[in-house]
Amino acid sequence: MKISEILKNKNRTVSFEFFPPKKIENEQTLFNTIDILKDYNPDFVSITYGAGGSTQDKTIEWTLRIKNEYSLNPMMHLTCVTSTKNSIDKIIDTLKKGNIDNILALRGDLPQDLKDNKMEFKYAYQLVEYLKNKGEFSIGVAGYPEGHPESKTLEEDVEYLKTKIDAGGDFIITQLFFDNNYFFDFLNRLEKHNIKAPVLAGIMPILNLSQMKRFVDMCGASIPKSLSSKLEGKSKEDMYKIGVEYAAAQCSELIENNVRGLHFYTLNKYNATKDILDNLNLN
Ligand code: FAD
Repeated sequence: MKISEILKNKNRTVSFEFFPPKKIENEQTLFNTIDILKDYNPDFVSITYGAGGSTQDKTIEWTLRIKNEYSLNPMMHLTCVTSTKNSIDKIIDTLKKGNIDNILALRGDLPQDLKDNKMEFKYAYQLVEYLKNKGEFSIGVAGYPEGHPESKTLEEDVEYLKTKIDAGGDFIITQLFFDNNYFFDFLNRLEKHNIKAPVLAGIMPILNLSQMKRFVDMCGASIPKSLSSKLEGKSKEDMYKIGVEYAAAQCSELIENNVRGLHFYTLNKYNATKDILDNLNLN
């Protein structure tokens, strides 16, 4: 089912993000995770795409499996920066044949050896435009409450986000963030730029501080000092408890403020997402 239709009929969605396991032995972890999280009736689940990597076929395979074997509503992530129109056409064909309704249209991170003059798609808005002209997909796009790392200003960031919505993006899923004020300020900027697409908040609890510090550095997000000092030096168990409690409190505040969706970056594990959801009053 199209996510745009779901969002028309529902005040708030819950969704889970998975990545396609590279190794066969990790597939069982994902099966277990889906088995447990499907009981939370997600409105959709999404499957990430490795820009230029070896897991692209796996992304398509898992998107189809999740629909056919679990009867869940999948959204496939699709990056364009290393793609050609021809390669995108082939993927669109497969998705149409598999009755897949949803695509998250992304640029992807720029490979270091990229030859600019060979690119058929330079920015995500061009992929959105291309997909919109090709078929009947509901299209999501990425948004950055703290700004994309390549953007010079937050205002410029939102102006470019608007080009993705104007090209046919139906909804926005945000990069993870740990301070809700960034999210609320982001919504205010969107309103100022007359962007009316629903915004789903990307949620990821901190279960491993040093790993998360590296990740936020890469994606231009930040960890509040008060939170990192609470987590510093803690055992794995204590860190899990603090990370999950913090994310649950974050979600509660977002719900109180009428967030249109909570999108959980699960990393293919169920525990933390399950514990957060069990803490929330989602009715
Ligand atoms: P764009 O919207 O094209 O923006 C990229 C940069 O270019 C921004 O700084 C933007 O402001 C700027 N820009 C946009 N248009 C113009 C223009 N016309 N002129 C000048 N500058 C412009 N990556 C993966 O590889 N696989 C995934 O599965 C994946 N899933 C993701 C899911 C979510 C929810 C999010 C938030 C990110 C995901 N990413 C994924 C990461 C994403 O690919 C990177 O953040 C990437 O660097 C930017 O992608 P984008 O679609 O936001 O690009």
